[in-house]
Amino acid sequence: MIEHDLRGRDITDPEVLRVMAEIPREEFVSSEQRERAYFDHPLPIGAGQTISQPYIVASMTQLLRLTSDCEVLEVGTGSGYQTAILARLAKRVYTTERFPDLSVAARAVLRKLGVDNVEYDLGDGSLGWPARRTFDRIIITAAVPDFPPPLVTQLAEAGVMVAPVGQGDFQQLTVAEKYHGKLIERQVSSCRFVKLIGEHGFRE
Ligand code: SAM
Repeated sequence: MIEHDLRGRDITDPEVLRVMAEIPREEFVSSEQRERAYFDHPLPIGAGQTISQPYIVASMTQLLRLTSDCEVLEVGTGSGYQTAILARLAKRVYTTERFPDLSVAARAVLRKLGVDNVEYDLGDGSLGWPARRTFDRIIITAAVPDFPPPLVTQLAEAGVMVAPVGQGDFQQLTVAEKYHGKLIERQVSSCRFVKLIGEHGFRE
């Protein structure tokens, strides 16, 4: 997976490649999916949701340009796989999920793997983290029609936010940097994500 699907494409950041090799993806999928854990595909994790494909996880992580002092907000905990990758590269990860069962399962796997620099929240992550604060990096792991305004507010000056943005079945993986309170956006590639359901996302 590392050589063919990541390094063989455009994942060049050695730290991203290192943590992708370290975190066991099979821990985040059911026993029926385990033999497919290192295929470069999304896989079902219950509640109609998916664990993202490894290449997309690596690509979004690389776009964030994380450093060890970054505080990161992740919207859409899902299986916790992306959370684990972020947590190994950042100071602290704040992750929010709308399905309690997924959040509980993700917490258990991350605890088992010894990942302890993560805060969890349940609810509509399009509204931002419940406490008023800012984050150095924000990653949205479900499709949004546009960057949710509360998340733009919670992104620190010179911060980076990455999300699949678009109205249809396919979206544009988009990276945004915040300068003087405004986002400067760049579309990176086409992608396909489940939709973010919430006030600044889509309706159920
Ligand atoms: N990155 C995750 C992983 O590695 O397993 C996959 C995330 S999955 C593609 C998208 C997740 O976003 C789902 O778990 C879904 O329930 C969650 N989600 C959708 N709308 C949400 C919202 N408004 N707030 C928080 N989470 C949401």
